[in-house]
Amino acid sequence: MHTTILDHVKQGQTMTVENIVSLLTFPEVDSLYQAANECRHNNMGDDIYLRGIIEFSNICIKNCNYCGIRGSNTEIVPYRIPDKDILNTCQKMVDWGYTSVVLQSGEDPFYTTEKLAKLIMVIKETTPLAITLSVGERDEEAYRIWKKAGMDRYLLRFETSDPKLFKACHPDDDLFVRLECLETLRNKGIQVGSGFLIGLPNETLEQLAHDILFCTQLNLDMIGIGPFIAHPNTPFADQPNSFNSDIFYKTIAILRLLNPLAHIPATTAFDAIDPNGRDLVLQRGANVFMPNATPMAYREHYQLYPGKPCITESSDDCAGCVKGRIKRLGRTLGNDAGHSFKNPLR
Ligand code: SF4
Repeated sequence: MHTTILDHVKQGQTMTVENIVSLLTFPEVDSLYQAANECRHNNMGDDIYLRGIIEFSNICIKNCNYCGIRGSNTEIVPYRIPDKDILNTCQKMVDWGYTSVVLQSGEDPFYTTEKLAKLIMVIKETTPLAITLSVGERDEEAYRIWKKAGMDRYLLRFETSDPKLFKACHPDDDLFVRLECLETLRNKGIQVGSGFLIGLPNETLEQLAHDILFCTQLNLDMIGIGPFIAHPNTPFADQPNSFNSDIFYKTIAILRLLNPLAHIPATTAFDAIDPNGRDLVLQRGANVFMPNATPMAYREHYQLYPGKPCITESSDDCAGCVKGRIKRLGRTLGNDAGHSFKNPLR
């Protein structure tokens, strides 16, 4: 029965929640992982695209119940990286062979639409980097102005497609509003990345299957997921992940099979659950790596979850490390911007 479903997903047949649950409990993991790796190779090639991430502000007005930089966490040392240091890091990224920068922060109102537009324009004028912004829910006008300034992509995870679970995790947010933001971004011609947390407290396999199918329904250019890891200074401090690590990797593999042309990053959180986590993810469907490029002085203060790797490494160390990993995996470095494979202009 499992093997038949795997054959069906490989042939591109429509999947149901029951089918996905069946794949998530698939005992022959090796054949699932092999199918995902082949799908990645056949559709996306062997290149791994490097997108350096700069966590430029850890200040957030929101209070998501799983997040270590939530506004109510008084233990964190707040910071904002000066623009000149962000620009300096972007220059270095070009030397390191990165082709994209991801500018990520909490929902920090200090960064107005105009401030970020100016930053985007200067990065575009001074580097060849593609720019992804990940600064939370903003209005249509902000997305329009940033696109005009040169922003290529936007990353906004929906985190869970289940409205009740969403509310239990996000006291300040509404799933409907978040989905509207994703639609607005798409309508503006911006490449859209989204995704979810795996194993939120009390999550069921059926809810996870819905999240997986929802990514395909959204026709995302990039799908970013990571395991839920309880942070001690949050209301979810004592909550275990609802699943075991096999489910995390199976989720990546199924997403690849369902979305042959989407970029899928090996997110940092996989290294927090297993030192080789990101390498395994890259062999089970992923094709993007997001090395931490946040200047070292700030890294320890941007921990959405505990045990985050690369806190004590410099950005130079991370650049060297990632290239070694790519080589060991027998893969190649993507040397173009790594725009959406669904984008007809590519
Ligand atoms: S998940 Fe994002 S919006 Fe929520 S508290 Fe953390 S940084 Fe803020």
